[in-house]
Amino acid sequence: MNKNILRIAIQKSGRLSEDSLKLIKECGIRFDNGAGKLKTDATNFPAEILFLRDDDIPGYVEDGVAHLGIVGENVSEESSKNVDTVHRLGFSKCRLSIGVLREHEYAGVQDLEGKSIATTYPRLLGKYLESNGVTAQIHEISGSVEIAPSIGLADAVCDIVSSGSTLLSNGLKEVETIFKSEAVMIASKNLSDVQQDLLDQLLFRIKSVQVAKN
Ligand code: ATP
Ligand code: ZN
Repeated sequence: MNKNILRIAIQKSGRLSEDSLKLIKECGIRFDNGAGKLKTDATNFPAEILFLRDDDIPGYVEDGVAHLGIVGENVSEESSKNVDTVHRLGFSKCRLSIGVLREHEYAGVQDLEGKSIATTYPRLLGKYLESNGVTAQIHEISGSVEIAPSIGLADAVCDIVSSGSTLLSNGLKEVETIFKSEAVMIASKNLSDVQQDLLDQLLFRIKSVQVAKN
């Protein structure tokens, strides 16, 4: 693999995509963003952009198939891949929260003892419960988590919240925030000297853009 270019993995389509592309463009990196392309070359910087599902990005960066990635910190932390978080990007802010049925009285985290909680974030939830001394059953599902309590699949949910409207419309109330997230830039641990230098140039540009905005 070419050790003189940086491969940057970003989400193909979703909540991170637009701001990830914007950030790369604001750094002065130009590329042909042809619709449907999965890989594109930058025209004025030694970089390639890969368009992937966000969940796959930490693994690609750990393996060194991509050298840099932009993902939600929630996804990076849940993946527990061995990568470096090199910068916090300030967009796609959200939180990972626990919700219970609105009519349930809730006094505190100890009320979750012995309960079942549906989530797509078993690792982050497990850590949170453990650090609070609570034993609960973690029910891992891959989507539509909010429906679980109303259909009797679980007593509670642990899911990503930004405004809280999805919880509300499923008859739930937010009772604990377990993780606060934003988009982060992650990097592979095995960069060549040239790649490290390119990363430093990129970080310098990103920081300049962020300073100019504040
Ligand atoms: P993919 O198809 O790439 O797997 P996805 O459906 O898993 O996409 P998105 O819904 O696009 O992911 O969310 C990407 C990231 O955006 C989340 O991991 C999270 O960090 C952030 N985010 C911000 N607000 C929200 C929200 N309201 N709901 C979900 N994710 C949010
Ligand atoms: Zn995803």
